[in-house]
Amino acid sequence: MLELRDVHKTYPGEPPVESVRGVDLVVEKGDMLALRGSSGSGKSTLLHIMAALDRPTSGSVQIDGQYVEKLSDRELAGLRAFHVGVVFQQFFLLEALTALDNVASGLLYRGVPTKQRREAAAEALHRVGLSHRLNHKVTKMSGGERQRTAVARALVGRPAIVFADEPTGNLDSARGEEILNLFRELNEDGTTLVIVTHEERVALACKQRIEVSDGLVVSRSEQAASP
Ligand code: ADP
Ligand code: MG
Repeated sequence: MLELRDVHKTYPGEPPVESVRGVDLVVEKGDMLALRGSSGSGKSTLLHIMAALDRPTSGSVQIDGQYVEKLSDRELAGLRAFHVGVVFQQFFLLEALTALDNVASGLLYRGVPTKQRREAAAEALHRVGLSHRLNHKVTKMSGGERQRTAVARALVGRPAIVFADEPTGNLDSARGEEILNLFRELNEDGTTLVIVTHEERVALACKQRIEVSDGLVVSRSEQAASP
């Protein structure tokens, strides 16, 4: 599903920042992987590379059978639009739009006609428990509802893999628990998930846990997800 081989990412500067310094990683179909590490350890950089939002400086990245390093920018945009969904800590929703239009925007780059986009968006919002909020503007929604909407937008195109960067970071613990339960359900239904978190309980809910420190994987553990 996803395979990283000796991936490096260096940001130019004086001095250059080596954010990721040789990471090997495999995510199998149906996996639910937690990526942990302290602030500045390279988690977001790694997640951006895994989600094809950014290219590595060197190394190989294979996403759903396609090698990122062999793709043009245009092909990479296609890979993102059809195979990957991403959820961010800050939600990144369009405030002036309704939940439905935000989620439908997740299909814009696929050239899906408006009517079908809206139908798929309503279905994705139903999946995250927001059928009663379709026409609510983002400004009228709580933090938990906003994050559910962002999850629906990530899911609407039925991507092979969904990434989340600190998805519970801006939520209180009850709302965080709801989002975590939603991710668990999605994983049980077959969605492959990679979640960046520094919350213990989020990591413990995952099937595979990887810890990064200073741009390197320092530990891996795999066990059945706790109840
Ligand atoms: P984390 O998500 O674990 O907090 P990041 O991946 O955001 O870590 O950052 C890892 C390192 O890379 C940090 O030292 C950060 O300052 C640096 N970094 C991240 N993004 C950039 C960028 N666009 N330009 C320069 N340095 C960056
Ligand atoms: Mg980060």
